[in-house]
Amino acid sequence: LNGKVMVTGGAGYIGSHAVLALCDAGYDVVVIDNLVTGFDWAVDPRATLVRANIEDDATVRATIRDHRVAAIMHFAGSVVVPESVSDPLKYYRNNTAATRALLESAVVEGVPHFIFSSTAATYGTPVKVPVVETDPTVPINPYGMSKLMTEAMLRDVAAAHPINYCALRYFNVAGADPQGRSGQSTIGATHLIKIAVEAATGKRDAVSVFGTDFDTPDGTGVRDYIHVSDLAAAHVSALELLIAEPAKSHTLNAGYNRGFSVNEVLDAVDRVTNLTIQRRYEGRRAGDPAALVADNSAILAALPWRPQRDDLDGIVKDALAWERKLAERG
Ligand code: UDP
Repeated sequence: LNGKVMVTGGAGYIGSHAVLALCDAGYDVVVIDNLVTGFDWAVDPRATLVRANIEDDATVRATIRDHRVAAIMHFAGSVVVPESVSDPLKYYRNNTAATRALLESAVVEGVPHFIFSSTAATYGTPVKVPVVETDPTVPINPYGMSKLMTEAMLRDVAAAHPINYCALRYFNVAGADPQGRSGQSTIGATHLIKIAVEAATGKRDAVSVFGTDFDTPDGTGVRDYIHVSDLAAAHVSALELLIAEPAKSHTLNAGYNRGFSVNEVLDAVDRVTNLTIQRRYEGRRAGDPAALVADNSAILAALPWRPQRDDLDGIVKDALAWERKLAERG
């Protein structure tokens, strides 16, 4: 790559793991992050950190020029589904409008490659499981819509300008860097595995199970949990594809083609920790589909990337090790 990779949101959970993967692979990286939810200590010291909002056109464009940015990986954004329901305009600003500004900066400065953090929430309630990229995208919350609108912008911008993109639709991202360099550190996290390892380290007294009457084998919700380091590796692989075939863009599910129920996840946490974490059975959470699992045949066909850490107990182990580190740190 003739220049650096600019990673927006590189101080956040998934972005910080992408920075590790890029630096490990020998890329030069500049991070743009406003540190609202991210942490400066989460940024690999091999990367340069610029503290700015991505809508700050002057700073973004100067960074692109000064660092000779040749690709953008765009992770910055807001990610809490219930919050998107109560404050939709925050999501249309931080996700949709901010990405519009970033894309304009990319086009004006001639950045040729763009990788985007999209989401399985673009599907809403999937018409079938596993879900394929060509299935209908009917988001059931503003978070999913804010990301789907960005996918539409990418498609149109790539048709009009010399830029190609890969939108990766993430399923349930979990775990932490196996070398312990980063992990899920977000304050007030809402995701199941994070909450379960918080319970395992005494930060909570129980885990709520939201819904026991879904149309799934054990009645609890089924999701496709992907290890964050596998997801980071998929980004590096996608970048290499964009460089090799500059006329083509891609929208790909990032998941493992297999699901686990909430109870199966909590069983794994009990196994790994040798504890019996208390489960509090509650009603369904608003907007939760019964099952969401990736058909991953498209990403396997497009990229040489292959899952390396698709083992639920391993995901839980890495999440737990990071949680213990955070607990020690206080
Ligand atoms: N879930 C749960 N208890 C929690 C958090 C999540 O039972 O404390 C369930 C949730 O209803 C869903 C699954 O775990 O079936 C994954 O939820 P999460 O919030 O981790 O990710 P989402 O699938 O909503 O993006």
